[in-house]
Amino acid sequence: MNKSVFDILKQHKFKFKKLLGQNFITDTNLLNSIALDSNATKDDTIVEIGAGAGTLTIALSEIAKAVYAFEIDPQLKPILDIMLKNRSNIKVDYRDVLRLSDKEFSTIVNSEFVVVSNLPYYITTPILMRFIESSLPVKSLTLTMQKEVAYRLTARHNTPEYGAITLAVQLFGNAKITRIINRTSFRPSPIVDSAVVNIERRNAPVDVKDIKQLRRLIHSGFAMRRKTFINNISASFCIPKETLRSGFESMNYSEMIRGEALSLDDYIRISDYLTDLKTK
Ligand code: SAM
Repeated sequence: MNKSVFDILKQHKFKFKKLLGQNFITDTNLLNSIALDSNATKDDTIVEIGAGAGTLTIALSEIAKAVYAFEIDPQLKPILDIMLKNRSNIKVDYRDVLRLSDKEFSTIVNSEFVVVSNLPYYITTPILMRFIESSLPVKSLTLTMQKEVAYRLTARHNTPEYGAITLAVQLFGNAKITRIINRTSFRPSPIVDSAVVNIERRNAPVDVKDIKQLRRLIHSGFAMRRKTFINNISASFCIPKETLRSGFESMNYSEMIRGEALSLDDYIRISDYLTDLKTK
């Protein structure tokens, strides 16, 4: 562990809190690489979630215009005061990031921003969805998370990792894994390895007639994996199977197809078909 961070933590008798997902990274090379994975430049403002001891915050402040870091644990304040001293482009906010409304957020960062976080594992999905679905001007997200979750976010259709969360992310952006991080790079070391996922948000929303319906369709598509897609949506959309069978035939999908075999484009196509069906 980087001696100076370690010394400061020790000096303050800091105890890592498992409940807050406190697994810190201190290897400077790794921290710089994660910062670069965000593609942020001197024109960008970064919002970091979970500053910890400020090690990633420092790496981010080197490449960006400004860093606005959230940290829920007030016991880290004296440590961050020392670690981040004299770094004028960093501000730390000791609030729970998930409790801030869009309105409150806009008063803090009023221009486009980039999200970077070595995520507290216990809230990976809420934080991801909070920022990816939001109407806030989020340009991209670069998130360190459990490796298995990263595989789910970046999965291709027809694989076991592919699921509703894969498509929930694809609706808003393009996700890719930029690096795998061994568990031994964290202090304390968690029981799983991690991966960094970079998600560039789409400039425009997906081209679909009814976005609410599309989300509902995706949800139904994965609701009961052992059922065929037609059986799932017939039940949840109250449409006779016969109608769906002939519709699917005309779109060249097998009536036996399952939700996990369909790509986002397929879901969009089927959602638009359902919209047309309602207006017939
Ligand atoms: N960025 C540091 C690093 O890379 O070493 C720390 C990362 S650690 C995995 C996650 C941090 O998020 C912890 O310091 C934890 O206290 C903080 N945290 C947990 N829940 C939070 C929340 N809801 N809002 C803000 N920070 C949170």
